[in-house]
Amino acid sequence: MKKALLIVDVQNDFLPGGALPATGGDKIIPYINKLVTGNFDIKVATKDWHPAVHGSFASTHHKKIGEHILLNGIEQILWPDHCVQGTRGAEFASGWDHHQIEKIFYKGTDPSIDSYSTFFDNKHLRSTGLGDYLKEKGITDVYVAGLATDYCVKYSVLDAHHLGFKTHVFVDACRGINVHPGDTEKAIEEMRTVGTEIIRGLPP
Ligand SMILES: [Zn+2]
Repeated sequence: MKKALLIVDVQNDFLPGGALPATGGDKIIPYINKLVTGNFDIKVATKDWHPAVHGSFASTHHKKIGEHILLNGIEQILWPDHCVQGTRGAEFASGWDHHQIEKIFYKGTDPSIDSYSTFFDNKHLRSTGLGDYLKEKGITDVYVAGLATDYCVKYSVLDAHHLGFKTHVFVDACRGINVHPGDTEKAIEEMRTVGTEIIRGLPP
């Protein structure tokens, strides 16, 4: 068994005070700091990393935040501008000591399609390189934490599972956006259903 720790999108814009906050997103920082000192063979992180004009932004389409459109043939909910490359909002969260992270993978860079998963864009057309990287290193198990439970964490876990990795989620080191109340719990149930280990509290 070879273990990878995958920290998803722990960026200022997904914390309270940011453009697209997960409620309580700041509460996971001490937990994330603890996780990155843990016993994993590889520690990687991802960044949502959008160009200033992006198809997932309501502003791009002169529409309201939360509206749904068809983007590149698939349904897309429209978000506030967030995690724009080079801005403070796209930086790793203040207070997170991320120097133990050995590689960062970027997603959402193509303006014509969104990317919730840290492995593929939402149409599974293009890979971020993360899957191959983990396979080349012989990783068998992927441990996930970060933001947000009901979007990027969930889709990353489902893709990791489909790529053949055993998946584990530190749910107390994740928080959701909850566009609809209960989305976080639903996401946890969806991950559990495919066989993901749901870990509460701190790792052993
Ligand atoms: Zn995004």
